Amino acid sequence: MPRSVPSGYALEFYDSYVDNLIAKSSDGSLITIKKDSAGGPRWSLECASNETLSTISYSINLTKHEQGILSGYDASKIRQNRYIGILGYSIFGYLEPMDEVENLPLMLIVQSLPEWPIHLTLPPTTNRVPGQQTYSTASGIAKNYYHLADTQVFMGPSMNVTYIPISYDELYQQKTKSQLSFDQNLIEQNYIQRSLSFYVVIYTEDIDNLDVDMATNLSVQAMKNLLLYYNNVPFPLYTVAMEMTKPLDDKHSYGISMEHLNSCTINIEYGSGIHKNSTKDQIRIFQYNLAHHIQHAWLPKRLFSKFYYPFIFELTPVIDTIWFNEGFGQYIAMDAMARALPLNESYEYRQYFIKNRFEYKVNLAPLFIKQMPLPYLSMIASSLFSIDVRTTINVNSRGALMAKDMDELIQLNTQKQKSLRDGIIYMLNWSECNSYIIPFTMEQFPKFFMNATNVDVSPVLEKWLQ
Ligand SMILES: [Zn+2]
Repeated sequence: MPRSVPSGYALEFYDSYVDNLIAKSSDGSLITIKKDSAGGPRWSLECASNETLSTISYSINLTKHEQGILSGYDASKIRQNRYIGILGYSIFGYLEPMDEVENLPLMLIVQSLPEWPIHLTLPPTTNRVPGQQTYSTASGIAKNYYHLADTQVFMGPSMNVTYIPISYDELYQQKTKSQLSFDQNLIEQNYIQRSLSFYVVIYTEDIDNLDVDMATNLSVQAMKNLLLYYNNVPFPLYTVAMEMTKPLDDKHSYGISMEHLNSCTINIEYGSGIHKNSTKDQIRIFQYNLAHHIQHAWLPKRLFSKFYYPFIFELTPVIDTIWFNEGFGQYIAMDAMARALPLNESYEYRQYFIKNRFEYKVNLAPLFIKQMPLPYLSMIASSLFSIDVRTTINVNSRGALMAKDMDELIQLNTQKQKSLRDGIIYMLNWSECNSYIIPFTMEQFPKFFMNATNVDVSPVLEKWLQ
C-alpha cells in the first residue's frame, strides 16, 4: 500500500486500515499471507508450486480511516447515506512491480448503493455520453498503477455534479480587446479545435457558506484562463471537486487542497467558503486557490524534476525542487488569472498577490529557515507539510519570488516580447515529447529558458538557490 501521495509531502499509514486481506488460488483455496515483519506497508503471499494466484481482496473501514488520518486532505471521506469521496492513493494497493511499470492498463469498476450517482475522474471504459450521470456502477481505464492511484471516486445523493464542456472555439470568441495583451498570435498559430469535458463536483455540509453556482462558475473561469495560458490541453477530462465537511474533532485539520492528473480536490475549511456576501478579496483568494490547484495538472503533474515521478509510494521521497512545483505553480496561477483581466485590473491583481502572498509569507519564517539554502529547505519540507508548514510556506514563497524575478528579467531583455510563460511552455513541450514521464535536470533548466527566450536566467537561479 502507498504511504505517500505525490504533492502531499507527508507520510500517512494507509496500510493500517487494510482489513480482511484474503488471497485465493484459481481453484478457490486460500493462500497464506504474511505482513512485512519490519513494519513496511507490504505483505507476501506463500503460494505452493502447484498454486496460481487468482484473486486478492481486502476491505477498508473508511470511518476508521478518516478518524485515524488527521490531515483531512490526505484522507478519503464517508458520510452515512450522503457521500463518499475517495482519494485513490489511500485505498488502492498494488502488486510489485506494478508501481514501476509504465504501460499496464488497469480497469476500475465501482459499485455503489442502488440509485447512488458515481463520478470517476478516470476516462470511462464505455462510450458514455460526456456529462451523463452514472448510477450504481461506473468503470474507467487507467494507463498504469500511478494513474489508478491518482484517481478519485465520488458518490452519493448529497453531491452536486455539474458538467461544462469547454472548447477552444468558445475561448477564442470570448477574447475582448482589453485582453489582447495575451499572446494571441501563439493561439492563432497553434489553433486546433480541442475540447475538454469539465466537471465540478461539490459536497458541502454548510450550504449557506458555499454558493454552489458561484463556486462552479469561478472554477470554469479559472480553467479557461489556464487553458489560454498553456495553450495546451493534455487531458480529455478534468474534475474540480470541492468538499466542505464539519471537522471530525479539533485534532483534524482541513483547508489544504490536493492536485491530480485529471482533477483536484479543494478542501474548504468549514464555514469559510464563498457566497453572495463575500468580499472581492475573499472571492479572488478562493478563485486563486482553484487556479493554483488546476494549474498543477500541468506543473508538476506533467512537468517535474527528479523524484516527483517515477514516484516512491511506500516512503515519502525527498525532493529538492518543491520551489518549482509549488512556487512556480503559485506564480503561474497568478499570471494566468492576471493576463485574462483588463490591463489596469491585471496590474492590481498581480500586486495584490505578490505583496500579500509571496512577499508577506516569505517573511513569516524564523531566521534559521530563511537562511537555509532553497534546495536544502525543499528536501526538509518534502515530508513535513502536515507537521511543520513553515518549511513549505517558505519554499513556496521563495519559489514564487524567483519566478517573478525570472519573468521580469525575461521581459526586460526582450522588450516584453517574451516572458516566463514562453520558457514554461517550452519545457512543457519538451515534457510532452517525452510522454510526460521524464524529469528535467537543473542543468537543462536554464538551457530551456535560453532556447525559448534567448535570455540567460542563470543569475536569478543562482541568487535564489544559493
Ligand atoms: Zn500547490
